[in-house]
Amino acid sequence: MLRGLRVVVMALPKCGNCNTNGFECVVAKVHNYTFPVCLIQCTACGSVLGVMPEYDAGVLAHANQQELLAIKQRLDRLEQAVKQILQKV
Ligand SMILES: [Zn+2]
Repeated sequence: MLRGLRVVVMALPKCGNCNTNGFECVVAKVHNYTFPVCLIQCTACGSVLGVMPEYDAGVLAHANQQELLAIKQRLDRLEQAVKQILQKV
């Protein structure tokens, strides 16, 4: 017996059209919008319940940072190679 504990049950989200509670992200292109979006839609009837960006800005920023770091390292190595060549001339 769990005395003194209060159990809070959150309501399950339901589709406003068919009253089921299964949802999925469907990537779609929206006319006159540059980036793909994720449509949160009901798996039973396809009603769209929300829209969010298809990409994660933080993940993209981290990937871009790693790519920039790799390019900088390659440029540094190239600079060192050019210096060595110029010293021999
Ligand atoms: Zn539905």
